[in-house]
Amino acid sequence: MTSIDTAIFEQRLTRVQERMAAVGIDLLVIGPSADFRYLTGHAAHTSERLTALLIPQHGESRLVVPRLEAPLYADLDGRLAIDAWDETDDPIARIAATASVVGGATLAVNDDLWSGFLLRIQAALPGHVTRSASVVLAPLRAVKDAAELTLLREASRRTDAAWEEFCFTTRLPGMTERGVADRLRALMAAHGIPEVAFCIVGSGPNGASPHHLTGNRVIERGDPVVIDFGGVYEGYYSDITRTPVAGEPEPAFVGAYETVLRAQQAAFEAIRPGTPCQEVDRAARRVITAAGFGDAFLHRVGHGLGLTEHESPYLVEGNTEPLRPGMVVSDEPGIYLAGCWGIRIEDSVAVTADGAERLNTVSRDLTVLG
Ligand code: ZN
Ligand code: ZN
Ligand code: ZN
Repeated sequence: MTSIDTAIFEQRLTRVQERMAAVGIDLLVIGPSADFRYLTGHAAHTSERLTALLIPQHGESRLVVPRLEAPLYADLDGRLAIDAWDETDDPIARIAATASVVGGATLAVNDDLWSGFLLRIQAALPGHVTRSASVVLAPLRAVKDAAELTLLREASRRTDAAWEEFCFTTRLPGMTERGVADRLRALMAAHGIPEVAFCIVGSGPNGASPHHLTGNRVIERGDPVVIDFGGVYEGYYSDITRTPVAGEPEPAFVGAYETVLRAQQAAFEAIRPGTPCQEVDRAARRVITAAGFGDAFLHRVGHGLGLTEHESPYLVEGNTEPLRPGMVVSDEPGIYLAGCWGIRIEDSVAVTADGAERLNTVSRDLTVLG
């Protein structure tokens, strides 16, 4: 369930149907996923019993749901047709029946629908073409409405508060990476984010692996520690990275840190309506390359976030799609030196009418927690 007004879900469904008409999709089949949540407000769980939202290009949408779970969706009654199936029924046959009523032969399913379901749907509808529902949903979900922006701001604000308290209360030397993650989880919960979605703690040489698996390494004095974490607030994600140091850093590290900081600022300044996504990546990469670390910036500069932690638009070379007001993206350049350390500085940023707004506002300056 959600604090978002039901009228907004009706608007979203209408826009989905308009886009289906524009791209030539006759029926959308949306299983439990962020797409499902975007369209219904429900965080449905995936199981062997199929739940699916069926959206025809015209007319009423329909929720195919196992009867034992139909009570969970009582609030949708009246907005959608509820099609409850019993344990001995075949939900795939319900989808096939709807497809034949709708007519046309182009179906689209959400990207994360289980392949087991997709194969059964395809077998039941020979002659139909199956496409990705992202053609319809990714552009809509990429531009956040006011209600979504409010939740994303709040997710980041609470995450920032947890980080500030961490900095005030934590000394890194002697802690394990896991200990750091546990501490952050507790602080996130204390600040109203009970669900921490991910927490990468890469200390010393482990920081050179951007998606390091947090482990039992004991943090030594002077180690830089890449800490990348985020949580979920009413369905919406936060995502921040800071790289504090466990005591006085070596001069080479300080220089590289300043470079990442400047790259992060350059990318931030590039974020505005109309800028092609790849230009944001280029803005950060120019700074890092000029400093001689071009090969050590191993990943794209950012990704969209919202109901998932990584979604469209991707700020990557080759993506010429222009930024639009309401998009929310990460700005996270990094430098990774194998065997030594890593540095990443990440904020979530909203594209505004004439520029950009940082959703994370805690200090990005080099912080010593020793
Ligand atoms: Zn990442
Ligand atoms: Zn992150
Ligand atoms: Zn990120």
